[in-house]
Amino acid sequence: MSEANRHEAAPCGLYCGVCADRVEANECHGCGCDCGKCGGKRHADHCAIAKCAADKGRGSCAECDDLPRTRIIEFTFDPIWRPHERCIGNLRRRKKIGTEAWLIEQQAYWQDERARKAQLALHDKCAKQARELRETGTWTG
Ligand SMILES: [Zn+2]
Repeated sequence: MSEANRHEAAPCGLYCGVCADRVEANECHGCGCDCGKCGGKRHADHCAIAKCAADKGRGSCAECDDLPRTRIIEFTFDPIWRPHERCIGNLRRRKKIGTEAWLIEQQAYWQDERARKAQLALHDKCAKQARELRETGTWTG
């Protein structure tokens, strides 16, 4: 697995290669990237899931015997961050075929412009909703 691709397989099951922060804004190389030029490391440092996987010495929740734990179920089915909804399925697939093969599948799947655009639009919509909830003090997440 190349260094660049490794960071696209987030410990939580997200595929960073179809995140608006990476694809549209190009502000992130993926979860945990420590290049010093992007938000990847900061993002992982503030993530309870990434921290849990690191504390257990695992690359992701796919390697955890306790999958799916409540934390990953809540993350996957977060009513605001709907792009998370693939996480448990992604983790199960990673567990079955390995992260490297899974990344190849993901790269191929998201070549589909219809799927990619829909996912990026969903990310934007959810980010907007999260901003609005924070601005009104309704949500502090
Ligand atoms: Zn980076």
